Amino acid sequence: MTHVTRSRLSDGREILYFDEAPGRVPATDLRGLTPRATGADGSGEVRFDALSGEWVAVAAHRQSRTHLPPADECPICPSTPGRSTEIPADDYQVVAFENRFPSLGPVLGEIPGNPGWGTLAPASGRCEVVTFTPSHTGSFAELPWDRARTVVEAWSHRTAELSALPGIRQVFPFENRGADIGVTLHHPHGQIYAYPYVTPRAEAMARTAVAHWGETAHRESLLETVVRQERQDGSRMVLEGEHFSAYVPFAARWPLEVHLAPHRRVPDFAALTPEEKDELTGLYLDLLGRVDGVYGSPTPYIAAWHQAPLAPGYREAMGFHLQLTSPRRAADKLKYLAGSEAAMGAFINDVTPEAVAARLRAAVSPYPAPGRGVVVPHTAALHTITAPTQGLPA
Ligand SMILES: [Zn+2]
Repeated sequence: MTHVTRSRLSDGREILYFDEAPGRVPATDLRGLTPRATGADGSGEVRFDALSGEWVAVAAHRQSRTHLPPADECPICPSTPGRSTEIPADDYQVVAFENRFPSLGPVLGEIPGNPGWGTLAPASGRCEVVTFTPSHTGSFAELPWDRARTVVEAWSHRTAELSALPGIRQVFPFENRGADIGVTLHHPHGQIYAYPYVTPRAEAMARTAVAHWGETAHRESLLETVVRQERQDGSRMVLEGEHFSAYVPFAARWPLEVHLAPHRRVPDFAALTPEEKDELTGLYLDLLGRVDGVYGSPTPYIAAWHQAPLAPGYREAMGFHLQLTSPRRAADKLKYLAGSEAAMGAFINDVTPEAVAARLRAAVSPYPAPGRGVVVPHTAALHTITAPTQGLPA
């Protein structure tokens, strides 16, 4: 059971504590920060790119944000008598709070509906930071199961609330892990962006999902079809539970890429059952351990939780899933996005998805078993592994 306690930081930003036991009394933020401007003048802007039809957030005020501070200046460690941080508590478990340097928000509301060249608007939306642990070092993969389960509950809670804010079209929880990915704080944490538009990637995926949803007369979503086919094929499977499966996608883009998807049609975290959240927690921890086990050292990654956009039609068709990617292509080498990928969005992967799946199945987590409550998944070793297929199986 997760207990949620709400409070405000001294500049007015919202902070929420997620605890495994009741009784938290939120402490006062003693920093006496200047109240932030909550209107359009306190926000960045979004500009419309008429050539691509995509929105771009311009957040020049973020340049002054904290960058890789030493441990004794970390803004998301617990506060001490001598040093007040973003979290006015001497201890905590999981915390979500509004980012002090947001790309989107704090203003909320609709952006222009028929944009063209020259259209700009206040960057409405919301950016939150989610801290996974009071401990400055470590990683998500090292969290005990109970703590990871609380993070899942926090993602679910925030997804439901942020989805209900005015003008929000998409809620995106994610974690950037490792300085190689561009992390600006070492302390284990993730973020949640609530966008006032459907992001380009979600838009492209939603369009194919909507087409498939129509073609199957609303019997099976595209993600359900893909997960069913991956499970039948087996050659790219990594983990298989009762409610979720993890697999390297048929057309993986990155040297390390793995998806974790439910077996039924689910739009987002908030729509998962408690049993599904339990299993998701165990499978995610297992997966992260394997990712670090591939090279025997912490691997930079982006954990992107895709959720159905809050737009009519998209919500029914598009499925919730994790896309975990890493640019690490060898123990000491990273893939950089160059001409084809960065300019054209056309990926070239140097390794077959089937080979990556085999490495992830064989990988051993460098961390102790996550402990109580772990769902022991079926591994792909139980499958009959087939040769890599040439086309999508029927
Ligand atoms: Zn810290």
